[in-house]
Amino acid sequence: MARFIRTVLFLPPGVEQDEVTEDMILPGSNIVVGPYAGHSQIKEVEFVKSSAKAKDCPKDDKPEFAILGRSNVGKSSLINALVRKKEVALTSKKPGKTQLINHFLVNKSWYFVDLPGYGFAKAPDAAQMNWSTFTKGYFLNRETLVGVLLLIDASVPPQKIDLDCANWLGRKNIPMTFVFTKCDKMKVSKGRRPDENIRNFQELIRENYNKHPPWIMTSSVTGLGRDELLLHMSQLRNYWDQ
Ligand code: GDP
Repeated sequence: MARFIRTVLFLPPGVEQDEVTEDMILPGSNIVVGPYAGHSQIKEVEFVKSSAKAKDCPKDDKPEFAILGRSNVGKSSLINALVRKKEVALTSKKPGKTQLINHFLVNKSWYFVDLPGYGFAKAPDAAQMNWSTFTKGYFLNRETLVGVLLLIDASVPPQKIDLDCANWLGRKNIPMTFVFTKCDKMKVSKGRRPDENIRNFQELIRENYNKHPPWIMTSSVTGLGRDELLLHMSQLRNYWDQ
């Protein structure tokens, strides 16, 4: 058990390994809740701007979380579930906005950033290049980035395009959380269950990370992981803020 905890759990700021008890671990995740966890619900969301480059993004030094994933991963559904408003994700789905960095101000205090998806699984290389030149610039230059939420569809086996993205973020030491989507899809007739896909995914990316990143299971259909993800974000944000 001790070894399991040391290699697998995500310890937030303010928590030591030996003080972790089971009730501090968020269900369906490897995330420990620490002293910085606090107010987490989203009361108010305001679209601020769409930017073509990192240098055009808002400059008021508020902490931000970026949300990223392959097309069809369930990003709009998750944003709607977190925010409980339909129009938020829809704004960035308008033609022309999907290739931009879209900033939303939450509770007047932090940003939720919707990044361009990295194409369909079968997208031509050109679409992926487009992602790499411009979204990578954002990751490398955005000082107020508290964390990236990388969305991974847990109802399918690990996809190369997701592994490439996870490995790149890991190698660059960009703080990130794996948010596994569609975890309600337990009854697939063929293939593996979400928990097996999740385990396989983590084994495939392990060597690119010094520390095991936080991960969490979610479903926009059942609400699984919603409050837990918001709480996790609150502790990272509050630590960053102080
Ligand atoms: P996006 O392209 O990443 O914004 O993906 P969407 O949110 O539009 O979702 C893509 C598809 O996956 C839609 O058919 C959704 O109904 C479905 N989907 C999204 N989230 C979930 C989920 O949590 N569970 C299940 N079963 N389906 C989901």
